[in-house]
Amino acid sequence: MRNFLKIFLLSLISVNAHAFTLNNSATLVFAQDEVKVNVANITCTNIGIDIHELKSIAADAVDQYWNRSPTSRLKLRVGNIISVAAAYGTDLICLAGTSCDPNPALAVASDILITCNTNAANFSSSGVLAVTVPNNISGKTIIGSVIMLNDLATNQFKNSSRAEKVSIIAHELGHTFGLGHSPVKDSLMYYATVNMRQSLGEDDIDGITYLYPKQQPMTCGTISEKNNPNSWLGLLLGFGMITLLSKFQLRYLKLRPRA
Ligand SMILES: [Zn+2]
Repeated sequence: MRNFLKIFLLSLISVNAHAFTLNNSATLVFAQDEVKVNVANITCTNIGIDIHELKSIAADAVDQYWNRSPTSRLKLRVGNIISVAAAYGTDLICLAGTSCDPNPALAVASDILITCNTNAANFSSSGVLAVTVPNNISGKTIIGSVIMLNDLATNQFKNSSRAEKVSIIAHELGHTFGLGHSPVKDSLMYYATVNMRQSLGEDDIDGITYLYPKQQPMTCGTISEKNNPNSWLGLLLGFGMITLLSKFQLRYLKLRPRA
């Protein structure tokens, strides 16, 4: 019995190490397993790269980060440079006077769209590199999300190395499919950029796996509930994780460089 209690306590410690949070503290997810990452054909004037390089960076962000999660079913695929309304480059991401009610004029029809934007009201300081929000939602399903890069003349994105730009886009992609910020400092989803982060952290993998768990393979065999002494323990731990997640409230997601 004493050994069993030890295992139980260690399990609780393990659960508490899962610190990822969710957008709006709600479980919003894409319904499909494969989501495209498109780039808007909006000219980027001040971020130091053109939209073709931006697409290349998005491809690296997908390959080096999220698609390397071994336990999640979501696969991001870089799509195309697509034609969009000029408003994506100039308009507010959220309706004025709201904490962030997405601007319906910019609702992304499907998948993920990355665009440059020059509306100063979207970026409260030059240190805000990008703003991201799932802005087309049906119930708890994400239909489309937008990433707006700060393309004002004062932006700091342009001063980042290519590897840092890949990391920044990967962080914003995490917001597009449902993740909030992690308090774990070496996570990709930490609120500030982590200069040496070049792959997912454990908390990032926990987060994407929570939202997009892989289906368990069908196997032969039987299992008896009565003979499974740990079944109640799994339920209890699951409840603990949900309680932990419900503490967090995030509506408007920004990435700032570390001071
Ligand atoms: Zn962020």
